[in-house]
Amino acid sequence: MLRIAIQAKGRLNEQSIDLLSEAGIRVAESKRKLISRAEGFPLEVLYLRDDDIPQAVSMGVADLGIVGLNEVAEKGFPVEQIMDLGFGGCRLSLAVPKTTAYEGLAFFRGRRVATSYPNILARYFAEKGIEAEIHTIEGSVEIAPAVGMADGIFDIVSSGGTLISNGLVEVEKVLFSEAVLIACPGLDSDKRRETEQLTFRLNSILDSRGMKYVLMNLPKERLGDAIRILPGMRSPTVLPLAQEGWCSIHAVISQDQLWERIERLKEIGAEGILILALENMIR
Ligand code: ATP
Ligand code: MG
Repeated sequence: MLRIAIQAKGRLNEQSIDLLSEAGIRVAESKRKLISRAEGFPLEVLYLRDDDIPQAVSMGVADLGIVGLNEVAEKGFPVEQIMDLGFGGCRLSLAVPKTTAYEGLAFFRGRRVATSYPNILARYFAEKGIEAEIHTIEGSVEIAPAVGMADGIFDIVSSGGTLISNGLVEVEKVLFSEAVLIACPGLDSDKRRETEQLTFRLNSILDSRGMKYVLMNLPKERLGDAIRILPGMRSPTVLPLAQEGWCSIHAVISQDQLWERIERLKEIGAEGILILALENMIR
């Protein structure tokens, strides 16, 4: 049976459980348990601190893991990165007090930078030819400049609100991160097959996100125009209507193209347009 490590509590816990549940896999909330058996898939769930997930997966304590790319990159354990999961988005950035005259990376030469991600930062500075003092601190990195511990910080940013409220400005975006599915290198063929079944489900969920199922009635003579406007997995579906000269068209449209397409369809005479949520899409 496959074993997957997820964050026991914190920012990624709930969305990890929700994603599995969308994939038909019911998982107990961690509460006090370290490990539990999922329902709907041969899977055991191991609840860990996110810092420990890359190592657990690398060692094979868990076969799979859901964790931020930032942790994978920082810890550097050999793991196979299988897929991005579309949540937990953030970035690792350098920031300095807003009163600092910042004119580029050279600012950091010989300066002190506080961070919980010393390995990623050291690699970045080395790549850019910057020698700086990296001070590793576990929590509250953002207060380090104000208390005189550092000239700048390297930390996780999502909205940027924490930086602003600490009088800091983001000056370099170094690594974009989101939750990823990782695997232990060298899983046996049974586990590999089970992993593929799981990623198949996850991919179909991610594919259908932001997609809408659209249906409408259209005079038959405008069909050619409509097909040019509408994408489809292969092409739109066209069904006859009981009323002579009319048809019904069905298609899948991504959310960001939806309204522009709908307007063009209305212009060519589409009526009775229905827009439905799309639950799953198997390509
Ligand atoms: P743990 O107790 O498991 O060690 P933690 O305190 O280290 O938890 P969380 O704050 O729960 O970690 O964040 C987990 C992950 O969520 C981060 O490593 C990162 O990938 C992602 N994340 C997304 N947005 C943010 C954000 N604004 N701040 C921190 N982490 C974020
Ligand atoms: Mg952590």
